[in-house]
Amino acid sequence: MNNLTTLTQAISFAAKKHAVQKRKGADEQPYINHPLEVLNLLTTVGQVEDFDVLIAAVLHDTIEDTETTNEEIKELFGAKVCKMVLELTDDKSLPKATRKQLQIEHAPHISVGAQQIKLCDKISNIGDILENPPDGWSNERRREYVEWGKQVVAGLRGANANLEKRFDELTAKAAKILSES
Ligand code: NDP
Ligand code: ZN
Repeated sequence: MNNLTTLTQAISFAAKKHAVQKRKGADEQPYINHPLEVLNLLTTVGQVEDFDVLIAAVLHDTIEDTETTNEEIKELFGAKVCKMVLELTDDKSLPKATRKQLQIEHAPHISVGAQQIKLCDKISNIGDILENPPDGWSNERRREYVEWGKQVVAGLRGANANLEKRFDELTAKAAKILSES
């Protein structure tokens, strides 16, 4: 199978796994829009061309948020992709605050591919926090999310200059918008 075929299969696989899920914003976008935005950011802003990274990006929330197992990912997309997806999967048995702290601590130690995906994940989520925030989130809560994202990204510096620049521009915009209202 060539790379493009495998990427296409990953997109189709993720679309089926996330089929019944919606994003948390008021406009209830289909969940798959988020991994596809992460893929788009990687290629257009990050200029990432490593297909294993692009495939892992599409799959990055499948184990954490759907019934997908790591065996499935490994069998269909290989050990390298599976490792990156696992690096991006929070342990849901831990309390939320611990998971958030662990993301900050683990960020410098994951593979460069997973770091690039995580940068795009934070750009996508903070973009949503600005444009289409989860229902009921106060300004204070939105600011807290952005501040946490900045702490995670502090541990990802050096992974991709273009993505880091995009993140910094977005968080500067977020500071302005969220201090105004
Ligand atoms: P959640 O983890 O509940 O929600 C954010 C996550 O949801 C994102 O990381 C993203 O993850 C996903 N998501 C789906 N749709 C959207 C969207 N439209 N916009 C942004 N993200 C979206 O929130 P928190 O990260 O804030 O975690 C909860 C924490 O907040 C707890 O630690 C709790 O203590 C604290 N809390 C704070 C409150 C406050 O008012 N300050 C109130 C209640 C809780 P993915 O990439 O995986 O899709
Ligand atoms: Zn995500």
